[in-house]
Amino acid sequence: MSRNGTELKQGIRRHRLVKEDLIYGPLLSRRLGRSLGVNLLGTGTKLCSFNCGYCQCGWTEHPVLKAAEPIADFPPGEKVADALETRLQQLCHEGIPIDVITFSGNGEPTLHPELQAIVKAASALRDRYAPRAKLAILSNSSTVYQPQVRAALEGVDLKLMKLDAGNEALMRRINLPAKGWNFAEMLQGLAQLDGVLLQTMFVWGRVANTAPVAIRDWTDRVAEIRPNGVQIYTLDRVPADPGLMPVSRGVLAAIAAYARRRIYVPIEVY
Ligand code: SF4
Repeated sequence: MSRNGTELKQGIRRHRLVKEDLIYGPLLSRRLGRSLGVNLLGTGTKLCSFNCGYCQCGWTEHPVLKAAEPIADFPPGEKVADALETRLQQLCHEGIPIDVITFSGNGEPTLHPELQAIVKAASALRDRYAPRAKLAILSNSSTVYQPQVRAALEGVDLKLMKLDAGNEALMRRINLPAKGWNFAEMLQGLAQLDGVLLQTMFVWGRVANTAPVAIRDWTDRVAEIRPNGVQIYTLDRVPADPGLMPVSRGVLAAIAAYARRRIYVPIEVY
């Protein structure tokens, strides 16, 4: 599959669904309920350690694995906390409830160098303005091998971590990770984290992760990680790669049924 500069730029133009705000929503999420989003990746631009063909934000121009790399342009933690407090005050004033405060946005939130301090500040703000809400994060798992990332994640109630394939070769084809990404270290980091909820996107087309051997490998890795649960789903938005297609509900149901027979982990189909 070609990933030349022209294709990258076309993809970004076609699918530039990046967030323009630090705080967005609340949006009604199928998996989380009323979710107030916190975009830790800056506004109007995407920053990620992966380059998934199914990404709704378009292609990642320069995937990076470490927050310190100079390409990064993160909003300062203090600014994130101020913006979150302002929005929570507004929601309180308007009587709008939320179920979760979700770290997500234009890419991979764990790349933010101040993640731990931001999680701590958000936790205090949640306690003050929305004590029933949980803190959630949508992460692609690429950085979970780093102890400081795991320490930050320990402060998050719902750790929704990506695992799209059970072997390195297929993950590389689906997620196109940044240089330096290590499959074994990622799996080890996931296994060391408490209370993980794995998320897996199944796709067909230019690359597919639904072959029997792929499902067997994926199930084996899930068993090793021992998450609290697994959420499986397929494309429901326009992907960066037009060669990808959603799988059918029947295929998702069959994958879930197979996994439930083999491992004792709750599997939910979305
Ligand atoms: S990990 Fe998420 S944000 Fe990053 S490229 Fe994949 S789908 Fe997009």
